[in-house]
Amino acid sequence: VVVGVRMWRHSSEHMKWNGTGSTAHFQEIVLERCYNYMQLVQPELRDRDCQKIREAFRNAFISKDPCSATEEDYHPLMKLVDLTVPCDKTVFWSKTKELAHQYTKVRREMFTLEDTLLGYIADDLNWCGDAGSNEMNYQSCPHWKKDCSNNFVSVFWDLVSKRFAENACGVVQVVLNGSISNAFDRKSTFGRVEVHNLNPTKVHTLQAWVIHDLGKLPSDSCSGSSINDLRWIIMQRNIKFTCQDNYSSGKFLQCVKKPEDSSCR
Ligand code: NAD
Repeated sequence: VVVGVRMWRHSSEHMKWNGTGSTAHFQEIVLERCYNYMQLVQPELRDRDCQKIREAFRNAFISKDPCSATEEDYHPLMKLVDLTVPCDKTVFWSKTKELAHQYTKVRREMFTLEDTLLGYIADDLNWCGDAGSNEMNYQSCPHWKKDCSNNFVSVFWDLVSKRFAENACGVVQVVLNGSISNAFDRKSTFGRVEVHNLNPTKVHTLQAWVIHDLGKLPSDSCSGSSINDLRWIIMQRNIKFTCQDNYSSGKFLQCVKKPEDSSCR
């Protein structure tokens, strides 16, 4: 009976959150991605200590209340990893993850956050621990809307997105989705964090491309009100703003994937 009660308490405790649990093999994936990145993406960074990075990442959230994350929790990790990319090579995105990543895969000198070491390591992973346990919680983690916004995953992305934007210089680009009604969304990470952390003394132009899905009518464009919002915010910040609908490089990538579409002929 005692064992039964304990097991019941154990499992109910671990299903307390509404979001998906930590990614299985989180530690191994972090380590493997770190080595992979060093070897394939930026060989000059090879000497960086992936074990240290894995350790600092784990220490940021393990044994802590998963709804009380702060930026400070990630400071030791941030100290180990550099988020800078060369001037004119930064690419932001919002609701266009796949397309933006296809673009930087072809134009190897361009970088989204996920083409930097920390973004590459964490992309699509989920993680949380629990106060009073030194294990990760693989059953459930706080959902950012249903449970708490100060969970470790959201705080991580807000922090790295902020640093990534602060470090940008020259001309920066953003790929936006013209197949949704608000291509620019003030509540997205791009609208809430990245736009406000561009440094006007370093960034002189933000170039937006609004790309809509092949074979569909656009739902938003450079002349729509959401892009006007963005134009206004950027110009207030003393940064030049340009916008192009269906920028040809983006179109080209879409056509490589779907050459039979009539708009690709
Ligand atoms: P988006 O709305 O397409 O969101 C990107 C991803 O982040 C989605 O999977 C979304 O569910 C998730 N997300 C957004 N806000 C979140 C939050 N507060 N907590 C947990 N998950 C959240 O586009 P966006 O919000 O503008 O973010 C994209 C921009 O911000 C990019 O420029 C990138 O540099 C950075 N970013 C990347 C990731 C990532 O998962 N790789 C996540 C957040 C932000």
